[in-house]
Amino acid sequence: MKILCINPPQKIHRRFIDYPPFTAYSLWYTAAYLRDCGYEVEVLDAYSLPESAVSESDRDYLYAGVSSDSFEKYLSKYSIDVALLHASQYAIQEPERHSLFAAGESIRRLHPEALIILADLYTGGMNYINWDTRSILTMGSSEMAVFDYILRYEVEKRLPELLEALDTGVKPRQSIIEGTAVAKLPKLESNPYEFVDMAAFAAFTGKFYKTARRADAFEIGGDCVPFKISRGCQFKCSFCSSGSIPGAHSAGWRKHSLVAIEKQLRYIAALKPRRRILLLDEAANSHPLHFEAFLDMVAANKLKLEIPNGLRADLLNFGTLRKLKQRISLLSISPECGNQKALDRLVGKKMNLESIERVAAGCAGLALPLAMHFIIGLPGETREELQETFDFARRMHIEYGARPWIQYAVPVPGTRLFDDCVKGNLLSDKLPNDLNSTFQGGPLIDNSSCGAGPAELTAMLKAFYDEPGMRH
Ligand code: SF4
Repeated sequence: MKILCINPPQKIHRRFIDYPPFTAYSLWYTAAYLRDCGYEVEVLDAYSLPESAVSESDRDYLYAGVSSDSFEKYLSKYSIDVALLHASQYAIQEPERHSLFAAGESIRRLHPEALIILADLYTGGMNYINWDTRSILTMGSSEMAVFDYILRYEVEKRLPELLEALDTGVKPRQSIIEGTAVAKLPKLESNPYEFVDMAAFAAFTGKFYKTARRADAFEIGGDCVPFKISRGCQFKCSFCSSGSIPGAHSAGWRKHSLVAIEKQLRYIAALKPRRRILLLDEAANSHPLHFEAFLDMVAANKLKLEIPNGLRADLLNFGTLRKLKQRISLLSISPECGNQKALDRLVGKKMNLESIERVAAGCAGLALPLAMHFIIGLPGETREELQETFDFARRMHIEYGARPWIQYAVPVPGTRLFDDCVKGNLLSDKLPNDLNSTFQGGPLIDNSSCGAGPAELTAMLKAFYDEPGMRH
């Protein structure tokens, strides 16, 4: 069975959250996994072709990838039995999901015999956005839907099952399939980075950030290669979409094999010009020994590193900070709240705020730049607790130079926070279909019955950032 894994050209909201070009990692990883499973696999990645580019699409969106003509030209060259089309978190939020449908229709036209599986290929590390699969499946002509199957969440269990059934001529009746978090990640033998032209991907990523004109506090650009050493998390923070994957809580944090990690790092280290590793795990240092082993391998390969998702401060020791100092440009940790009781009650992070101060002192001693993520406006947060978050953030900045990054809580569907907001009727407005812009917009939750309402919260955050030196 010949499988073509496809990342289609797509539109991306200009006020995107997370790291759009690096969603391609999920496609490369899945291709490597399927090859390990014994399938004949190729990749058509609209982000990794010589013509891959980024252009202004309209007021709100960028167009990323190759033109539809170019996409079809490449698509027509393959002989395929199954097309696995990647539905990235950006593509599923695009109005009318136009790019996914356009890609699906191109596949139908050029490869009428091929089965099309649309899948979000969840590998963790970025927000998971729940999507309405049923309406997507019923679109298309009355004779033929655009997609044959839709697969959500992790693929390691359900995708091989589906492919095996199709290979033996059995067409499963169920068209929407939910993957579940696997207990153990496979020991990958194939190399995800060998499926694409990494030079073309670097050029595309450079163009993406240039066109998006979005400065990032981390040094993220064309020389970054997405990387993962684990998936999932053993904690259950109320706002975090990592836990919205079926089976995520029982599966918890899972590691990729160190053998595979080393092989992949060696491959990346040999690329010219020199690359940096963009580590995208949601909870990279959950297992300190695994994380340390990874840092040692990064050092042995003389690679630099960026880790945009906050590390757990309670699992960082001074020795690890010293290693990080040699590799990263900026460390981020996530106290979320400046009041311990609020952190326990509203977030459930199971972390002591003392560890935040310990890490801040360590970073200051090492001259390692530090940023701290805070979330305000969580349901049930009192004015006093809110004030303590501002006070804590200010003190961490004044005493240790930590940059305060304060964000309004965003209730991503599928999270406990979202459910609580719906139950308590706390959403001030209907959430937009594309959630990207909400992460940098105003407050979405009306917490006025317990503490500051949206207007007061906005005024307080503005006053905080108007203080000298607080805006970073
Ligand atoms: S520690 Fe909390 S926020 Fe971080 S990945 Fe785990 S559940 Fe999500």
